Amino acid sequence: MKINIVKPFLPELSEFQGEFEKCLQSGLVTNNSPYVRLFEEKLQEFFGSEIKPSVNCNGEMSLYHLIQAWKFKMGVDAHESFEVLVPSFTFTGTINALVMNNLKPVFCDVDQSLVLDINKCVVDSPDIKMIVSVGAYGNLTDLEKLGEFAKQHNLVTILDNAPAFGSKFKNKYPWEYGFSEMISFHATKIFNSMEGGANIVTDPEIAEYLLRLRDFGQYEKVRGDVDMPGLNSKMLEVAALVGLKNLEKVDFILNSRFKNIEAYKSFFSELESKDLLKTMRVDEDVLCTYLYFPLILNEEATDFVNYMQEHDIAVRRYYTANHDLKFYKGRYRNQDLSYTDQIKNNIVSLPIHTVMSNEELEYLFSTVKSYFIK
Ligand SMILES: *Cc1c(COP(=O)(O)O)cnc(C)c1O
Repeated sequence: MKINIVKPFLPELSEFQGEFEKCLQSGLVTNNSPYVRLFEEKLQEFFGSEIKPSVNCNGEMSLYHLIQAWKFKMGVDAHESFEVLVPSFTFTGTINALVMNNLKPVFCDVDQSLVLDINKCVVDSPDIKMIVSVGAYGNLTDLEKLGEFAKQHNLVTILDNAPAFGSKFKNKYPWEYGFSEMISFHATKIFNSMEGGANIVTDPEIAEYLLRLRDFGQYEKVRGDVDMPGLNSKMLEVAALVGLKNLEKVDFILNSRFKNIEAYKSFFSELESKDLLKTMRVDEDVLCTYLYFPLILNEEATDFVNYMQEHDIAVRRYYTANHDLKFYKGRYRNQDLSYTDQIKNNIVSLPIHTVMSNEELEYLFSTVKSYFIK
């Protein structure tokens, strides 16, 4: 048996062929076209947001524009900079989106829940004006505490919830706490449109900026006048169509995943009780949709990765400590990163697909067990 790292949940061609044919015949294949607008409406229904989410070609571009929009609203020129508190332990897309906005990351620590440890974040410079929290593996930091911290220090707060589609804090979606949130719809994520991303915001000005940023920043279309330089990041109709079809099945997608998560949790609690590994802590207030199932091993992950690969189960060394990456190493400030440094080489992510057969689950669990208990 072989288990891939991801198995994207996708519609059959027959489910959207007719609609796609209409796009091709009408020539409306991009540029705020009908299915993109419908996808945004349906996303608004799903999240119950006051402002319609806006979609982009991918999550990183959504985040890039979200940061750009806030910078503009703050009155900070494109060439000016400030510092941003952000976890080092994330996908490099988070940090790249900051740096490409000419901002400086200040790397912060995570705790056992593998998301930002707000207790350790320090506003140690007047240059810090923003905080980015990452929904790693679908987990969330305490959003009330994050809100209080941001208010106390007057920080703009952005959530990179690329991996956290459907996750909730105290039974509410993250946008309900008033934050600006990005979610990715990449094929590897919990909910996908092949490639894609969305921003959900509560500030009408930011929402307006996002719509023009994805269209080169044009606020006037006849001459193409711009008041901030945007990059083309529009979503294709065909991606919106796939997103729409998946959104029709979103209850199935999430419930099927929750069922698998329960199986993983009950299997791994046994190994954890024998101190063979640690699983990610998920606080009571968080409903976590688990993009992958991360394990914190007691040792460096290489042997485990090799063992799983020998048994045809793909695993990933994900996420990673960005302050160690070639471009970032030594270039920006670090705060206390003791927990990140302790775990960064011991983390490994197991696949957890939307749909998994009992045979797949049993094969994965028995293989893991055979590694730890020889
Ligand atoms: C996946 C991911 C991204 C990038 O999203 P794309 O849609 O692939 O561009 C950014 N940040 C985090 C934390 C992610 O997990």
